[in-house]
Amino acid sequence: MLIHKTDAIVLNRRDYRETSYLVSLFTSDFGKIHAQAKGARRKIDKFGSSFSPITHNAIVFYESLKSDLHIVSQADLIEHFPNIDKNVEKFGLASYIIELISAAIPFGEKNREIFDLVMKFLKFLDKNDKINNIAQIFEIKFLDLSGFKPRLDYCVHCTSQMFTMSKFSYVLGGLLCEKCYNFDINAHNLMQGTVATIEHIEKTKLEDLQSFKIISSISVELEQILRRFIDFHLGIQFKSLEFLKKLRLANV
Ligand SMILES: [Zn+2]
Repeated sequence: MLIHKTDAIVLNRRDYRETSYLVSLFTSDFGKIHAQAKGARRKIDKFGSSFSPITHNAIVFYESLKSDLHIVSQADLIEHFPNIDKNVEKFGLASYIIELISAAIPFGEKNREIFDLVMKFLKFLDKNDKINNIAQIFEIKFLDLSGFKPRLDYCVHCTSQMFTMSKFSYVLGGLLCEKCYNFDINAHNLMQGTVATIEHIEKTKLEDLQSFKIISSISVELEQILRRFIDFHLGIQFKSLEFLKKLRLANV
């Protein structure tokens, strides 16, 4: 067994036996891991954290070389996000980030940039008032870092860069020019403004996007296209999105 110290965001926690937890953690140095926290529910000295989901902790864990279930021997809470816990919409958005990480990142694959991105968004959500399209901004930044990034700067089939009209192909993962539409009959029309919006979000820092206004037709298309793209690649139902949808309908 190897012993490691790292930072971890709690994705999920389940009771295990009489006194323990089974946890899924997204760590800064080892990616996503599954672990057992023996005796953590007894609040013994080694555990200054109760492993609540959406918290940032410093942990020590023993890496099992025989199985993918490791053992957390020590954990301390570094920060939690009180405003996310208090506000249902912020909580829904943070839960979506956690669900997306849980679904899209394979176990044991280190990705420090995505860890930092998640931390940045959680802190931002906690400290700031509502920012429009924050879920889509997270999705674009996440896709950019995770290797799923949709190709928008040239036609995915013929690599031509000169086109005014385009369609988005979920299967091919990017834009098709007019000449290549028939390579995916399910490709979806996409406004130039949506392409420009995605490119702007990709290269702009989160804090500088606070005053960025997206007109409603683009906002709707952006949400649809990213949703379908992520669903196409991951194929899962997000509970947090159902929750946010109900919340939105209740507020209309
Ligand atoms: Zn083409």
